[in-house]
Amino acid sequence: MTTMRFAVFACISIVTIAADNGPLAAEDDLVLLQMHAHRKSDPEATHNDWWYGASEGGTACAVSGDEQRCGPTEWSAIAGDDACAEKGTQSPIDIKTADAGANADLSALALTDVGAFTNVEFERNSHTTEVVFSEESGSADRMKVVWGGVDYFLKQFHFHSPSENTIDGKYYPMEVHHVHQNAAGQALVLAVMIDSKATTENAYYKKVWEGINSVEDGAANEAKLVNEGELSESPYTGVLPANKDYFHYMGSFTTPPCTTQTIWILLKNSISITTAQLEEYRLKIQASPMSQIASCDTARCGGTTPTGVADQMAPGSIWDESQGTNNRDLQDLTGANDNLRGVYQFTTENWQCMKFCYHEKSARISWEGGRCLWPACGGCAECP
Ligand SMILES: [Zn+2]
Repeated sequence: MTTMRFAVFACISIVTIAADNGPLAAEDDLVLLQMHAHRKSDPEATHNDWWYGASEGGTACAVSGDEQRCGPTEWSAIAGDDACAEKGTQSPIDIKTADAGANADLSALALTDVGAFTNVEFERNSHTTEVVFSEESGSADRMKVVWGGVDYFLKQFHFHSPSENTIDGKYYPMEVHHVHQNAAGQALVLAVMIDSKATTENAYYKKVWEGINSVEDGAANEAKLVNEGELSESPYTGVLPANKDYFHYMGSFTTPPCTTQTIWILLKNSISITTAQLEEYRLKIQASPMSQIASCDTARCGGTTPTGVADQMAPGSIWDESQGTNNRDLQDLTGANDNLRGVYQFTTENWQCMKFCYHEKSARISWEGGRCLWPACGGCAECP
């Protein structure tokens, strides 16, 4: 019997299901989550700080005294950030597309604008830039993802360069994370890869970059800088790809405190920006006086140039190795804290047939070569 493990939508617990018998048993209880994926760092560098570079002062960074920051392999040594050391629960991961199984209980994403807004908050902090949909700017809870019958409201989106997750071992030049939260505090990250193959500027990110650029550099000890500005178009309609097929897994925040039980949805299709737009973002976070980013290394990127990133860049353009990067190193899919974690995928073209066979025919489903097979139904011709 084939078993699959995934998040059930309504209660966000983890269940084991048998592909031919339906849900069997709940394993874990609801876990409430903090809202923000990114904790703000302390105004002054202390031994409690984290960053993307190697640990300052050697491997005992968290206990060795003041003015030292912990690198990614030691984030868990910082008080309250123990989850960063877990194995099998953490993000980002490498998504192996051939292993991403079908799952008849995954549903299509519904992205809905539920109210108009004109202003947002543009933020620059020590490790990224963000667009925040806040109460203060009147843009809170104006967009939502409905997934598995549950509403998740968009709180903010921010960027990483290179990507954090990889697909079949390959990085993209950037990845955007749309951080959502439901009424119970459950976090859902809608992630989208960004390539730099475009020949014309991405109009939506042009506006976002202008907003980010309007935030003054400020003093070096300011952990977060904010400026309210105009942005009246939602990212759902303004920039996301039309096709919403996706990969899904249960993971964590990619920055301390590395909170687990976070729902990850990674769209299969990417967003395109120009080489100039990629450079502009990377130079902006690099130039920040409070920047805690670092150059790529083997652990975080596979090398000084991220593995495979050239495939997602415009022909002839070159990854600037001297610029800072803000990605966490890849985490193991399974390990001591979860030996059963898997990656699943939702593909619109197979969905109707798959759902029919699974729910109405109780047919065993298998996944081969990126296609769903439903032998008990005799093929797609019998499906609705
Ligand atoms: Zn992120």
